[in-house]
Amino acid sequence: MELFHASPWVPVEWIKAHGVEPRGLWYSDELNPGPTRASAGTCAFAQAVVQFAETHPEKAVLLTTHCDQLRRGFDTLADSPPGRSFLFNLPATWQSSVAERLYDSELEGLSRFLLALGGHLPAPEALRQTIDAYALARKTLLAQAAVCPARAHAEAIARFHWTGPPASTAPSAAAPGPSSAVPIALLGGPLPRAQWPLIEVIERAGARVALNGTEAGERSLWTGPSSEVQVPADAATLASMRLWLARSYVRHCVDVFQRPNTRLYAWLKEHVAARAVRGIVLWHYVGCDLWRAEAQSLREAFGLPLLLLDAGDASPASARDNGRVEAFMESLIQRPA
Ligand code: SF4
Repeated sequence: MELFHASPWVPVEWIKAHGVEPRGLWYSDELNPGPTRASAGTCAFAQAVVQFAETHPEKAVLLTTHCDQLRRGFDTLADSPPGRSFLFNLPATWQSSVAERLYDSELEGLSRFLLALGGHLPAPEALRQTIDAYALARKTLLAQAAVCPARAHAEAIARFHWTGPPASTAPSAAAPGPSSAVPIALLGGPLPRAQWPLIEVIERAGARVALNGTEAGERSLWTGPSSEVQVPADAATLASMRLWLARSYVRHCVDVFQRPNTRLYAWLKEHVAARAVRGIVLWHYVGCDLWRAEAQSLREAFGLPLLLLDAGDASPASARDNGRVEAFMESLIQRPA
């Protein structure tokens, strides 16, 4: 039994421990954000997720409330077979315990949905083991970030979001891009399988994707000291473990929809400095107000050249995008480090 979703802030440990396989749609070859739908001024990714649900009524899907487009998309699924879709309310705020309680109550509702799908209530020990396995997989993937080619690493993370732990490793024989290439950060919205060639377009133009901060990139691999990623021993009941899980997701979420979104900038600040990033490509879906609103703030916050690249077209390797990427990378190469 599978549950398809499109948010890294969905509690996959909770789903898996109920005996249901969480499937992050970024890895699916059936998810194709297309240019026709984007031309209507709506986010092609949100549309593709809704289209996936509409064309697979036999599959269970979970959408989140983190943006209006997905929220409205869920409403259009109201006629789908009963009990096959679930709207998970992701709190936008995070600075009070109310957000944690809200997330916890969503976990409770999700549990009922999973049981109705045919799942089972997890034993506390099974949930603990599942949480540990996911934490280890995230840690393993993060450790590979600096040594794996960007495309292989994006694929490895997406595969983890699709299959769960253990984290499959990117090819060890492959090396990251040449050290002479200009390190850049690729930030922004979802980069599903159909759009991974964008990384090659960037790297052919003389840059190296040193930081993948797209939705299902490194940013989605929340981690921390063991005290933060392992359930404390005194959380012995399912309810206490559920609350711990809710707290962990609320406290580690790094995304543009949060208010304030200062954690996104703190995360970027740390990683941009550590990877010596010299330019930013902002991957933005036409119709996504959340990421578009950040373009100027990112320029001001980091003082780096920024290319706003629209994901309105299904093919990131289009001649137009190729030209814009090449011109941007050329300007970076000529700019003093
Ligand atoms: S890219 Fe923006 S509009 Fe599209 S699904 Fe993500 S947050 Fe929503």
